[in-house]
Amino acid sequence: MHIPLVIIGGGLSGLAAALRFARFIPDVLVLEKHSRVGGLNSYYYRNNRLFETGLHAITNYAPPKVKSAPLNRLLRQLKIKRSELDLHQQNQSEIRFLDCESLVFSNDFSLFDAEVAAKFPAGHDGFLKLLRLINEYDPFQPLPFISARKIIQEHLQDQLLTDMLLCPLMFYGSSIEDDMDLGQFIIMFRAIFLEGMFRPGGTIKDLLDLLLKHYQDHGGTIRTKAAVSRIISKGSSIHGVELANGEEISCDYLLSTIGSEETFALLEKPYPGESLPRLGFVETIFEIQAETILPKAADRTIIFYNAAEKFTYRQPDQLVDFNSGVICMPQNFQDLPPRPFKEVRTTHLANYDQWNSLKNDKSSYNSTKDNIALNSLPIAEKILGNFAENIVYRDTFTPLTIERFTAKKKGAIYGNPVKIKDGDIGYNNLYLAGTDQGFLGIIGSMLSGVSIVNQHILPCL
Ligand SMILES: Cc1cc2nc3c(=O)[nH]c(=O)nc-3n(C[C@H](O)[C@H](O)[C@H](O)COP(=O)(O)OP(=O)(O)OC[C@H]3O[C@@H](n4cnc5c(N)ncnc54)[C@H](O)[C@@H]3O)c2cc1C
Repeated sequence: MHIPLVIIGGGLSGLAAALRFARFIPDVLVLEKHSRVGGLNSYYYRNNRLFETGLHAITNYAPPKVKSAPLNRLLRQLKIKRSELDLHQQNQSEIRFLDCESLVFSNDFSLFDAEVAAKFPAGHDGFLKLLRLINEYDPFQPLPFISARKIIQEHLQDQLLTDMLLCPLMFYGSSIEDDMDLGQFIIMFRAIFLEGMFRPGGTIKDLLDLLLKHYQDHGGTIRTKAAVSRIISKGSSIHGVELANGEEISCDYLLSTIGSEETFALLEKPYPGESLPRLGFVETIFEIQAETILPKAADRTIIFYNAAEKFTYRQPDQLVDFNSGVICMPQNFQDLPPRPFKEVRTTHLANYDQWNSLKNDKSSYNSTKDNIALNSLPIAEKILGNFAENIVYRDTFTPLTIERFTAKKKGAIYGNPVKIKDGDIGYNNLYLAGTDQGFLGIIGSMLSGVSIVNQHILPCL
């Protein structure tokens, strides 16, 4: 079997790349290891209900008229009409450093600017200077790592404001401990603070079904339960892939969305880069009765919190670090259709090795998960008010869950700390897209797939 383009991975970057290519040439094949597409952003069923795995909010909200905005560019590239998506903007989100300070923001940046001016008057001029840099800087230049923390601190001269700005951007897109690459910081600042957050009225399944429908309407093919076990190469050329069942498929171009180190493993070549610590997360979904009022934060969409004296974003020594995290209320988007239950999602940094040591003892792994879920309640209730007695169901996933369902090394959602911005890993016809190319989140990973196809593959065919 020979196909012009084979894509490894049916996550959002793989699906977007496939759809972009299929618009011009229908002979494209997506190979997905699992029975369902979506990767990190997929869904599963429990209690006869659909649960989303990785959707707090979609970043990069843009009104229809802003033609150059990433969301609108993406829709144009994929020929998806905005009316096919049912977009609901966030209410208000908050960065809350407990017993210290809070900054509220929404999709109207003037609210955030006013919050900074009111609460950090001495830092506001520096904040405006930083904004100018954010608006003028080209974050896609292939530059070596520049410390965002250092640049922000130089502008603001205020440790607390620096930490408060970094907290949500790190939780939503940093694969590096306690810092971010400047380009990545600027992409995330624009995506979260300047553009804002939204979600579909339905579930992530609706978005995935829409992408699949467009892709298949263009003639594209997808195979699930089709794990690639080896990339067949000779020198710096790729000939094709071998599947776990022994089947071989040859191709002209191969696009891998599974991560850089993971791709080198399929090439049976040592990974040439340095192996740096990878960040894992634990998330608990509390399903609560629909009529529950969260007395301290009834309307908030997402709260990024820190309860420690000093904010840190690094792999903890223990299973989970409750000192900081994200609390998401997915029902708190504007004009969402009513649902039978509300949700509170708590997300915390986790230590992969400690979870991995429980791997072979299922009952101790499960009871540890239960304990961690219960231990996340006190901080969630401190921030939201009491809701524990209204919980009807809960589920927790760990870095092992992520590793199992997406094959991401150490279950690291944001992948390898070293990003390959041009997608070129040293082969003539193999490119990398998705998480390890450096574009994170739903819109970021889709743009990554589209831009690698545009840059490297379409011009050659
Ligand atoms: C808990 C959580 C919360 C998140 N919250 C948000 C959010 O609120 N907003 C947001 O924008 N983003 C969020 N994200 C991040 C977002 O989901 C990811 O950045 C994005 O989905 C990454 O897409 P990707 O295609 O690059 O990678 P992946 O989704 O990892 O896709 C890779 C695919 O490759 C498949 N694969 C791996 N190995 C093989 C193989 N050998 N053969 C065949 N297939 C293989 C995997 O099964 C997977 O489907 C969240 C993620 C998680 C896990």
